[in-house]
Amino acid sequence: MPPSAPPIVDALRACVGERQVSTTPPDRVAYARDLWPRSQLDRLAGEAPQRPAAVVWPADAAQVAEVVALCRQHRVPIVPFGAGSGVCGGTLPIHGGVVLDLKRLKAVRQLRPADGIVEVEAGCVGERLERWLNRQGLSLGHFPSSILCSTVGGWVATRSAGQCSSRYGKIEDMVVDLEVVGGDGVVRRTPRADAGGVDWNAIYVGSEGTLGVITAATLRVQRLPTAQAFRGWRVPNIEAGVEIMRRAMQAGLRPSVLRLYDPLDTLMVGSDGDRKAAKGPLHSLKQGLLGKGGSGRGLRWALGHPRLSNGAVRLIPPGCLLLAVSEGSAAEARATDDAIAAIARGVQAEDLGEGPARAWLAHRYAVSFKQSRIYAAGAFVDTFEVATTWGEVRGLYDAVKAAVGRHVLVMAHFSHAYPGGCSIYFTFAGAGPTPQVMRARYDAAWQAGLDTAVTRGAAIAHHHGVGLSRGRHMGAAHGEAQRWFGALKATLDPDGILNPGKVFSEAPP
Ligand SMILES: Cc1cc2nc3c(=O)[nH]c(=O)nc-3n(C[C@H](O)[C@H](O)[C@H](O)COP(=O)(O)OP(=O)(O)OC[C@H]3O[C@@H](n4cnc5c(N)ncnc54)[C@H](O)[C@@H]3O)c2cc1C
Repeated sequence: MPPSAPPIVDALRACVGERQVSTTPPDRVAYARDLWPRSQLDRLAGEAPQRPAAVVWPADAAQVAEVVALCRQHRVPIVPFGAGSGVCGGTLPIHGGVVLDLKRLKAVRQLRPADGIVEVEAGCVGERLERWLNRQGLSLGHFPSSILCSTVGGWVATRSAGQCSSRYGKIEDMVVDLEVVGGDGVVRRTPRADAGGVDWNAIYVGSEGTLGVITAATLRVQRLPTAQAFRGWRVPNIEAGVEIMRRAMQAGLRPSVLRLYDPLDTLMVGSDGDRKAAKGPLHSLKQGLLGKGGSGRGLRWALGHPRLSNGAVRLIPPGCLLLAVSEGSAAEARATDDAIAAIARGVQAEDLGEGPARAWLAHRYAVSFKQSRIYAAGAFVDTFEVATTWGEVRGLYDAVKAAVGRHVLVMAHFSHAYPGGCSIYFTFAGAGPTPQVMRARYDAAWQAGLDTAVTRGAAIAHHHGVGLSRGRHMGAAHGEAQRWFGALKATLDPDGILNPGKVFSEAPP
């Protein structure tokens, strides 16, 4: 495929309008990225990312279909783009072509409160939808930390999870049907998820724009909860915290949040559970290492010697912070909170009151969309999440920490609890003398983490998707199903123009 496609630009302008197609350098640079930290390391190493030839802003599904048909005719790759908050490189136009930004498709098409469903266009930003639903006394129940800067289409395409997935499920649990433009440039609607037989929505959920461009989704909605109960617990160690989570979920309780920080992450968060305002000792250390306008030399040294820094972490007391949020009617929230309390007391957890969970809720979207200051100090930081069954959680945590800890400083929290298991969200940071060495260490950390997850039979992703960062592990994780993907791709995107190279990066043609 050609890396750029100027002849198509006039045809695109005729289709969506002069001002809805851009080939200017600022737009092409802006759309050559998402929030994948490795791209930043590439830039530090002096490598500019591949830019798209053009950015297109269609107005509706019919225009999306026309753009796809044009690109097919000219054999030009298309990258669907929601808000670019992806952290795995999913929107990077690695083969050039056209970036198709869906944000003009933002209407709520219909709400059927009695049926508990809403139909919304793919480019609608999540927080806007949630606020609109709240005014009708409803909620989607989907609260990713990126809700302010991610879209409904992006959620479905990446198989996203909100912070309250223990109660409301992941996005795939909410999809009723989808409107999708295939690689042949035809608008289609999937059969309802409960139509009987195969659920065809499932092949689009998590397909990251490789099988179709999602233009609208019908989603299940809930009545707004009328009450919430908050509780923080100091648990003696990780095992005790995981045990509380498992027993609560397997007792049929449905708290919206159960979140357990490992000892290092507990120190980072601080005992009040408020990472933003945390004044814990490690936070002070980080501030000291980064220094106000300082060189960051101390931080680089500490992160550049992961065996030492991870060794020092082992001296931290084993106690962990567990947060619980319960909601529903006042009686339901109270009953869930009381039942979790009974389980927690059974493993000698110390009740910290409402404060830690309230503090977490108040700042739950205060994650930084800016590149971390750690990069400015000449180091790097990233996260990855995996998921597994309760019986495997502790073993997976230890194995990933040991493997990744050879390259970087690593910590984790356990969240998104379900009756069968939960996800483990690892945060790692490292440094190196040159951008090239940093990138090699970063890659080694990812490789070690995902290799370990595959070896132990865990899910290599829980909610951040695949993009480019997990593509090379997809074959090992999915086995023969990789060929089924090839077959689906050949049917739904016959000329392979939809986001090529993503999800199954080594899929056979
Ligand atoms: C600070 C921060 C916090 C985050 N927290 C969470 C979290 O709590 N939970 C979570 O699940 N994720 C989280 N993420 C990751 C990210 O927000 C999600 O992956 C989100 O679903 C991406 O939505 P988007 O609209 O920005 O998609 P984009 O980044 O624009 O695209 C992501 C992928 O989906 C494809 N795509 C986008 N729209 C469409 C469409 N309409 N049709 C077909 N394909 C499409 C793109 O081609 C790309 O492959 C976080 C990210 C950041 C930066």
